[in-house]
Amino acid sequence: MTLKKPLDTPIRYLKGIGPKREKSFKRLGINSVDDLLYYFPRRYEDRTKFTLIAKLIEGQVQTVRAKILSKVERRIFRRRQLNIIEVVVADASSKLSCVWFNQPYLKEYLKIGSSLILYGKIERYGSRLQMNSAEFEVISDSGDDSLNMARIVPIYTLPEGFTQRNLRKIINHALNEYLPQINDFLVYDIRSRNNLLNLVKSLSNIHFPQDADTQKQAYERLAFEEFFLFQLPLALRKLRKREKKGISHNIDAELSRNFISRLPFKLTQAQEKVIAEIALDMASSAAMQRLLQGDVGSGKTIVATLACIIAIQGGYQAALMVPTEILARQHFEKISSQIASSQGKEVKIELLTSSANKKEKEKIYKQIKEGRADLIIGTHALLEEEVVFKNLGLVVIDEQHKFGVGQRSLLPKKGFNPDVLIMTATPIPRTLAITLYGDLDISIINELPPGRPVIKTLLLKEKEKQQGYRIAREELRQGRQAFIVYPVIEESYALDIAGAKRMYEELKQDEFRGFKLGLVHGRLKQEEQDEIMRKFKDRELDALVSTTVLEVGIDIPNATCMIVESAERFGLSQLHQLRGRVGRGAETSFCLLISDCQTQEAKARLAAMVKFNDGFRIAEEDLKIRGPGEFFGSRQHGLTELKIGNPLTQMQLLRRAREEALRLLKIDPRLELKQDLPLKKRLLQRFPEYEKLMVVG
Ligand code: ADP
Ligand code: MG
Repeated sequence: MTLKKPLDTPIRYLKGIGPKREKSFKRLGINSVDDLLYYFPRRYEDRTKFTLIAKLIEGQVQTVRAKILSKVERRIFRRRQLNIIEVVVADASSKLSCVWFNQPYLKEYLKIGSSLILYGKIERYGSRLQMNSAEFEVISDSGDDSLNMARIVPIYTLPEGFTQRNLRKIINHALNEYLPQINDFLVYDIRSRNNLLNLVKSLSNIHFPQDADTQKQAYERLAFEEFFLFQLPLALRKLRKREKKGISHNIDAELSRNFISRLPFKLTQAQEKVIAEIALDMASSAAMQRLLQGDVGSGKTIVATLACIIAIQGGYQAALMVPTEILARQHFEKISSQIASSQGKEVKIELLTSSANKKEKEKIYKQIKEGRADLIIGTHALLEEEVVFKNLGLVVIDEQHKFGVGQRSLLPKKGFNPDVLIMTATPIPRTLAITLYGDLDISIINELPPGRPVIKTLLLKEKEKQQGYRIAREELRQGRQAFIVYPVIEESYALDIAGAKRMYEELKQDEFRGFKLGLVHGRLKQEEQDEIMRKFKDRELDALVSTTVLEVGIDIPNATCMIVESAERFGLSQLHQLRGRVGRGAETSFCLLISDCQTQEAKARLAAMVKFNDGFRIAEEDLKIRGPGEFFGSRQHGLTELKIGNPLTQMQLLRRAREEALRLLKIDPRLELKQDLPLKKRLLQRFPEYEKLMVVG
């Protein structure tokens, strides 16, 4: 049977949607009726009861229903002209003044005598309470207003050109037309085991809840559904991987021991543990898919190097991909020297970045293709079509959070099921990691090499930054080095923050007179960047003024001072990464965050930096402050597409969804049983890219 009204019906076939509205829907990613039904309210208003104006409490966000008594428009000149619309409203209990800034059109729109619902924070000015920039809705006192009044009402983020009222009407219409045709793709068993509402009831209650309790259940069902769809491909991939034949690397224990014994340090227990895990994986015939998590400075590179050596000694090629050129070069130099001093077969290492010229590139391509290059270290230049391996046996991706999911999966495709090791210094809490990277095995380095000093982190106000410079100068006098990082290269009129370029000139003349300063940023030519980094490394420079090009991976143990200016402009994990550039030697190090942070969020971030040194703790804080969507960023997996599921607050639900996904796939690994077909269809609608995963085998 085919449905008369399939959910993928384009949005323009809905009543009330002309080309203009269609366009603004599309801008929000709403193309079909399906998308619209899954466009959930941002919040709700319980319009069965309002707060009386006389009962309003200062400082709280509240909803009132009132009539407009009077309005005035005022203009004042501060730095810029400010237009103020002030409206006095009243209900049976009292009056309230409501103020909007720079929305002069409200003057016409708000009519004396009309009824409003107002939602906003109550502030006190002297003895009087006021609501500033309230969200409001004009309500009609006559006619049928059952969607908008006397119930729990959904409030949406509005597409352009819509009011809450007309969006509600359209969604209600879509629900009425299409809900009767919907089959629940979650089978009864799963629903009943997990106490979930059915789909029809959930969708209708997420938009127009019959009561708060049902809304909550609807929410839970839809969040579960999201998690479940999100976990299925991960679980599927994990199962497929077990079936997939990979390379069984030959482990020469003697050789690894030899290499390790020649290192200038002893491996930490954690490093040894993860090396064992990786070696075991590489020896097995299944293709390795391993995520290596470890805080900045925990020594992941040497682990990766060992994995490469294992692959190479068995006659395979290994590729190491990193996000920046500076880092690629650093790895290239360090790994080359480490490998050169070890015994065994001679290893040919190549560096491939996009700054190589055409001729150089072609030469490297040829080496790779003919199998004369054993280890290829590079940036995303490795992904180019011309890069063809002879027999790629291992792929290592460093600082994976800097790559998109798509990019990450491209390199392994250049081999025949090579082993894959993904490394990250943006650790996430273990339970989350297991569920979010459900298709990967996880290794964790949970200790730093011994003798690492604590890094002293201080938060300084703009006017106290001299103190920071003093500390830095003291370090330089001791023969150590410093970084001074700015959020931007150049200043602009729009942003009132100092830029690296001008500050470099200034600091050179002034605070750091007599010291040798360098300037590095992303707009310099690659050779110039490299040259400055080399100078810094060789201690020809005392301090480096820079932008965040330094953020990842740079390893210079003699650097003991990191100053971050306008620190509120950086994210928490970014700050932690920056701080990770110091404290790599034995000396006490400093991280000086300079900021007159204003917002709560920025304050929370900087406070977390001062309080915590451990990357795992920092990540937890970061997740808390920003929420998972922001935390994982658009570069990360489908998580950001979660519309309502929040893996932090709904960890239980997420875990249950994962269990159900694994349970289902054990019974029906290809989702081919009749009862699972609707689910399969839904899954492919959501993640078309998994089509292949389904048909394999
Ligand atoms: P990250 O995990 O941030 O990538 P690196 O691999 O760059 O860290 O290592 C940081 C520094 O620690 C490097 O200088 C490295 O040589 C050194 N290192 C790594 N392992 C050890 C160890 N077991 N003992 C002492 N130093 C180590
Ligand atoms: Mg690293």
